[in-house]
Amino acid sequence: MIPLIDFHIHSTFSDGLYDIMDIAAYALKKEFKVIGISDHFNTRKVRSIEPDKIKNYIEEIESLDLPIKIYKGIEIDFSPRTDLSLLRKTIFESIDYILFEYVNDSSMMGYPLWRLLEIYEDIGKPIGLAHNNIQKNFNSINREDFLDLLETHNIFLEINTNINYSILGEYYYSISEEVFKSIKGRSIPVSIGSDMHNNLEEMLNVKKGIKFVESLGIEENVKLFMEILQH
Ligand SMILES: [Zn+2]
Repeated sequence: MIPLIDFHIHSTFSDGLYDIMDIAAYALKKEFKVIGISDHFNTRKVRSIEPDKIKNYIEEIESLDLPIKIYKGIEIDFSPRTDLSLLRKTIFESIDYILFEYVNDSSMMGYPLWRLLEIYEDIGKPIGLAHNNIQKNFNSINREDFLDLLETHNIFLEINTNINYSILGEYYYSISEEVFKSIKGRSIPVSIGSDMHNNLEEMLNVKKGIKFVESLGIEENVKLFMEILQH
C-alpha cells in the first residue's frame, strides 16, 4: 500500500494561490502522510523564486510545526527561460529534491537530457523528470538505454496527475504506461504529484496516480523515492 503523498505542490512563493501553511493544514486534514512543496525556481515563464528568496522559502517550510512531514522541493524549467548559470550546489543546499520540467521536450524548448546529465553532479540532490510525456519525448532513445541512464544517475520519474499534462483526457503517465511497466524491479525512483496551484482539492487527484502505481505493481519504486529523500 502506498500512503497518501503529494510531491508536486505550488504555493504563493511562486504561482500558487495558497500559502504553505494553508497547504500543510489541508494535507493534514485529508490525512496525507507526507508532502513536498515544489515552487518554481527562476524562470521567465511564471512567477518564481529568485535565488535570494530561497532562504525565506526554506525557513517558512521548516518553521511549520505540524504533525506532517513536509519536504522542500523546487521545480526548474529546463529551458532558455531559466538562467542555468544559477543552478549551483550552494543554492540548493537545503533543498530535498528537484523537479526538472520539459526535459527533452522540444515543443516547450526543453533542453535535452544530456544537458541535465552534465549538470546533475554539480547539483548533488535527487533530481527527477516532472510531468514528462516520456513516450513522446524519449521515443528516439532506445528504451533500455534510457532506463539504464536513469538508473545509473538515480534520476526519478514523476507521475503527475494534473490535467494540464494529458492529451484528450489521457494523462502523460498513462500514455507512457509501457515505460512505467518496464521500470519494475529496477532501481528507478518514482514520485507522485498533483501540481496543485489554485484548488486544494486537486491534491486528492494523486489517488489516481497511486492507483496507477498499484495496478502496475511498482510500489517499490515509490518507496525508493521516499527513501532517497531521507538521505
Ligand atoms: Zn509544477
